[in-house]
Amino acid sequence: MLARAGLPSAAARAAPAAARLSSPPLDRRQRSRSQRQQHQQQQQRLVAAMATDGPKTEASPEVLAYWRSAEAVCFDVDSTFCEDESIDEIAAFLGVGDQVAAMTAKAMGGSVKFEDALAMRLGIMQPSSAKLGEFLAAHPPRLSPGIPELVAALQSRGTAVFLVSGGFRAVIHPIAQSLGIPLDRVYANTIQFKGDGSYAGFDASEFTSRSGGKAAAIREIKRKHGFSRIVMVGDGATDLEARTPDAAGIFIGYGGVVARPTIAAAADWYVYRIADLTDALDA
Ligand SMILES: [Mg+2]
Repeated sequence: MLARAGLPSAAARAAPAAARLSSPPLDRRQRSRSQRQQHQQQQQRLVAAMATDGPKTEASPEVLAYWRSAEAVCFDVDSTFCEDESIDEIAAFLGVGDQVAAMTAKAMGGSVKFEDALAMRLGIMQPSSAKLGEFLAAHPPRLSPGIPELVAALQSRGTAVFLVSGGFRAVIHPIAQSLGIPLDRVYANTIQFKGDGSYAGFDASEFTSRSGGKAAAIREIKRKHGFSRIVMVGDGATDLEARTPDAAGIFIGYGGVVARPTIAAAADWYVYRIADLTDALDA
């Protein structure tokens, strides 16, 4: 299984650099402060070694000015706002972790249409309402370090905070509520159930149920609120593709949970600590 397997094995360390660039996220047991720092430093070294020009770990004056004057900031949830990759974790809970992790890896690489990957993963998982409730009770989401402070800082300066995720509202709504983010600022997927609570499908009308969905969600946010300056923060390909002339003006990559060299190389600004973003608001 790719995700949640802990730090790279001796065999992985011996593999060519290109083959081990996306080292897996930290296991729950490995999350002491020093281990997290070690993990982040390791991610940083891997990305720096591979990116041709090096990721932009320092923001340019233009990017800083945009960050400070943004009307809204949209956060990816899995492996960005939270340390979890929730679909993989729900799948593991349901006993189909390996099959679904392989599908997630393909989807993150951009080789499968998002809607097809989502349908296939949910089709394997068949999450019932009861099982999803059990999962949430057993695995409360873990916010990435620094997220509550950043959300509070943005909201106190009048910057709107949105969550834009290919994950599920059942998981994300409680997170949003815990930080005072209104639910109409959450764009995510809805799992549908039959009358007996068994899995029925997903709501295909959600923007984020389709490839290109994050950009579409941001266009909707701009239309609905009249915003023109929006930042997308995330770790993956679907986050990067939300940076388009008509959607997010800049993309900030986050490599604190899992660092992806192609994303790092393309990001307008790439950080390993959420606190760097908070500090930069007032610096
Ligand atoms: Mg993500």
